[in-house]
Amino acid sequence: MKVGIVGAGMVGSAAGYALALRGGANEIVLVDKSAALARAQAEDIAHAVPFAHPCQVRSGGYERLEGAAIVILAAGVAQKPGESRLSLLSRNAEVFAQVIEGVQRAAPSAMLLVASNPVDVMTEVALRASGLPAGQVIGSGTILDTARFRWLLGDHLGIAAQSVHAYVLGEHGDSEVLGWSSARAGALTVGEFAEQVHAPITGEVRARIDEAVRRAAYRIIEGKGATWYGIGAGLARIVQAVRDDQRAVLSVSVVTPQVQGVADVALSLPRVVGAGGVLTTLAPELDPSEAAALRASAEMLKETALGLH
Ligand code: ADP
Repeated sequence: MKVGIVGAGMVGSAAGYALALRGGANEIVLVDKSAALARAQAEDIAHAVPFAHPCQVRSGGYERLEGAAIVILAAGVAQKPGESRLSLLSRNAEVFAQVIEGVQRAAPSAMLLVASNPVDVMTEVALRASGLPAGQVIGSGTILDTARFRWLLGDHLGIAAQSVHAYVLGEHGDSEVLGWSSARAGALTVGEFAEQVHAPITGEVRARIDEAVRRAAYRIIEGKGATWYGIGAGLARIVQAVRDDQRAVLSVSVVTPQVQGVADVALSLPRVVGAGGVLTTLAPELDPSEAAALRASAEMLKETALGLH
């Protein structure tokens, strides 16, 4: 499968690298406003290919995206000092309008995988600009927050993150909701599992994990300026679910007709991802406080998106 990546910065190039290492694509094309950057990233990633899986890694203009089944959108502009979030958002929405036009001229039916932040609102912008069906404009959403949640729970319980089924819902950002009530370890609730292995999830443990998931990006940015490896791997994971029609349950963002009484809002819920993109959305079990927090997250996202109109 041919995968395009527009925006060859840290996130776009990490996605390309992860795809190359995982064997997630047989052709990767990097496009950036800076042709020199796209060329350099493509060459660097190509040099990892002999250690991984056969794959062509190229760069070029939008015309090179012809035939791409999926295009990852990782282009964006940086926040200017003192700039408001909404102003940054409007500038990024303008970038997306241009980018999507370029992508669709070459690959009109390519699925779009949105990585640029704020990812939920950018997913909605991409859906509107592209005219594609909602299930084919997928935001990486909380795929990474969910990975962090599963990793921390697995670490506490002494088991592999892969054996923990727990999702982060809502916004990829401050208002996100950790789905504790629906979290499972093996076939048990995490609470029951924790009792059996004598590692109870006390209020303190829960608060620590909640904080670690919610503040992870801030901590990493403090240390290295931005985050890219985790999200790069998450993007590659989504591409593979589509390529192999895996029907994997992943927390990704798509515009959803109704969430806790809020209409047409892009946010993350567990969704079945396969060859057609998002095939089904699941309604996770929520306790009253989680339901209220998810509603608040949906309302905030809806308001932000309306601010852009
Ligand atoms: P991140 O950490 O999110 O990857 P970067 O600033 O490293 O952020 O990368 C964003 C990339 O998006 C930059 O390489 C930039 O050149 C690219 N970009 C910005 N605007 C456009 C555009 N209109 N078309 C293509 N690429 C763009």
